[in-house]
Amino acid sequence: MSKKNISPEIQNKLRQLPSVDEILSRPEIQAWSQTINHERIKQQVQQVLNETRQLILRGETVLIDPDTLAEKTTNKLQALGSMTLKECINATGTVLHTNLGRALLADEAVDAMLKVAKHYNNLEYDLDKGERGSRYTHLTEIIKELTGAEDVLVVNNNAAAVMLYLTALIPAGSEILISRGELVEIGDSFRIPDVIQSAGAVLREVGATNKTHLKDFERAITPETGALLRVHTSNYRIVGFHKMVPDSEVVSLAHANDLPAFKDLGSGLLINLEHLGLPAEPTVSESLVAGYDVVSFSGDKLLGGPQAGIIVGKKAYIQKLKKHPLLRALRVDKFTIAALEKTLTFYLNPDYAMQKIPTLRMLSQEIDTLQKQAEMLQGMIERETTSYHVAVIGGRSQIGGGSYPGTYLPTALVSLTSDQCSTSELEQALRLGPHHIIARINEDHVQFDVRTLLSEDMRVIAQYLKAIEQKNQYSH
Ligand SMILES: *Cc1c(COP(=O)(O)O)cnc(C)c1O
Repeated sequence: MSKKNISPEIQNKLRQLPSVDEILSRPEIQAWSQTINHERIKQQVQQVLNETRQLILRGETVLIDPDTLAEKTTNKLQALGSMTLKECINATGTVLHTNLGRALLADEAVDAMLKVAKHYNNLEYDLDKGERGSRYTHLTEIIKELTGAEDVLVVNNNAAAVMLYLTALIPAGSEILISRGELVEIGDSFRIPDVIQSAGAVLREVGATNKTHLKDFERAITPETGALLRVHTSNYRIVGFHKMVPDSEVVSLAHANDLPAFKDLGSGLLINLEHLGLPAEPTVSESLVAGYDVVSFSGDKLLGGPQAGIIVGKKAYIQKLKKHPLLRALRVDKFTIAALEKTLTFYLNPDYAMQKIPTLRMLSQEIDTLQKQAEMLQGMIERETTSYHVAVIGGRSQIGGGSYPGTYLPTALVSLTSDQCSTSELEQALRLGPHHIIARINEDHVQFDVRTLLSEDMRVIAQYLKAIEQKNQYSH
């Protein structure tokens, strides 16, 4: 825009804009100089002034007094120094919500992480010998004890684990046989066919989507075959007319042909959870008993630990993985090792694990307890506020994390609407507010599933609903 096109009114407004120095010299802006250096603060002031100038040039009404501009600068400085990774309240009831960070850690596991964060430790130091050790020794004994595995290796996540053994354990270019019913896509575009390809192997599909027989595998074995792979279809289920070859038969066939058999188990179930009313799922030990050479699973799904990929299996194979150069790129850090080691020790007594590990505790809550908690939350909201219609109703919680597809646990929901705003406005206010309360919306109601609420969350929710109510009253 050339200068002669600018109206005198706009030119006048531009002239009235405070200078950079005027804003910079204000005490509330100066106060930031301890945490943000002068040059950065100045850039933020300039940015605010530039943005204001653009708005003026577009003929928009905009406040140009120093107070307003200083406030805008303060907001920018605040955003600059604040974290984008924020604490949220999970009122969705989905225990392993991948978008909300999956498994919560037990307090003791968090303490273990803090200890190695604040203190030097024997991550790669052999205390007995006084010389260099290996980070991979820390988790070995406990995982062997809990799974019956010959050997163990832990990497960054299960996707990395699968990538590692498909790359390291079969000759490049050889074929991996997998059932057409198990070509899974996990979230974040982790697809088994793509993983096989990027590991330098060739995918050889066998059987049909709903049925794969032993003879399908048998016929597909050629001198090009490198391994048989089974993938637990953890995030979907085939219903109706379907059949999959039992594990032991796949393994026997592989071994009869001098081939390894691998299993990507998905969620790392260390103990049977059928007593919670959940369907039978293979545990890690069962897969090892079936004879698989290598089995891998996640640390932060049903196991309830930190993000990790745990590989268990035959010693000869695990040793080979430990020597592969790719391992260095996938290695776990000390925080993961600390939190995982602590979480795993709880499994020495499965009953204790059920009490101590938040994921298992949330999954095992009785409906009577949930009902009482929901009524408590309802009471808190009704005491604090006047503009909501609150009810406790029955509902279902999802397990999440790609575990137990199509399976739900009965739960109690606090369901509400507001006299002051729409359901979607209320959901948004909860989500964007200081506590980032993530609720469900169903049939035009905002719903809180108490299963995934922590003890202090209920009070926070009630208080924040009150704050929203007061804000709405004020603005109406
Ligand atoms: C979840 C899952 C993965 C990926 O595990 P991450 O630990 O998230 O990397 C791989 N395979 C299966 C079958 C899964 O369910």
